[in-house]
Amino acid sequence: AEEVGGGDKEVVREYFNNSGFQRWKKIYGDTDDVNRVQRDIRIGHAKTVENTLQMLKDEGSLQGVTICDAGCGTGSLTIPLAKEGAIVSAADISAAMVAEAETQAKEQLLASKDGPASVMPKFQVKDLESLDGKYDTVICLDVLIHYPQSKADGMISHLASLAENRLILSFAPKTFYYDLLKRVGELFPGPSKATRAYLHSEADVERALQKVGWKIRKRGLITTQFYFARLVEAVPV
Ligand code: SAM
Repeated sequence: AEEVGGGDKEVVREYFNNSGFQRWKKIYGDTDDVNRVQRDIRIGHAKTVENTLQMLKDEGSLQGVTICDAGCGTGSLTIPLAKEGAIVSAADISAAMVAEAETQAKEQLLASKDGPASVMPKFQVKDLESLDGKYDTVICLDVLIHYPQSKADGMISHLASLAENRLILSFAPKTFYYDLLKRVGELFPGPSKATRAYLHSEADVERALQKVGWKIRKRGLITTQFYFARLVEAVPV
């Protein structure tokens, strides 16, 4: 299944423009119409966003810092980054996701008059591979799950080439326990499991970073009952 060429990406795009958009917009939102599993994933993902913001702020203010949010989804990270004063370029393969992120940014950023002046993020419908430019920081949260390891290396190297100072990635860690859960999940696929999920071992991600001259400086692990994410911050060696 790893050798389906561009097929995977088309499936992912189609999913996140349709049923996946509805599902994830709900999970990343704050309405009550979520089930127990979705609520758990919502909490886990919110922790990933929170930990990412903390990792960034530990190194200093974000005021005026250029950041690329690759695979921005509905803007869960993009919007708080802009509130911190960062100059954010946000992109996603799904036009539906980008439209939603833009709507939310307009609502939340134009409404808030307090805090540091925020710059409206620049939104683009683009897949990761076609992103260009240079940014102080590149961040890519919970997107690697759509990439088999064979393609993840190229994706990581491309994202690193856009970043001057740091790259933050989160991915579903391939540990024995989670691998097992996933296998069980594949035996009983639910109706919402429209895309394949790829797990990554930390060693593989670290190797991909090392190959392009980057090293991991900080690591975090976020786990709830149904959500697992390894968070890494990498810097040039
Ligand atoms: N990063 C966001 C967050 O943490 O809130 C969204 C995470 S969501 C699970 C995955 C997102 O990755 C979706 O919005 C999807 O459209 C996007 N995506 C998947 N493959 C992509 C690709 N090749 N290029 C850009 N975006 C992609």
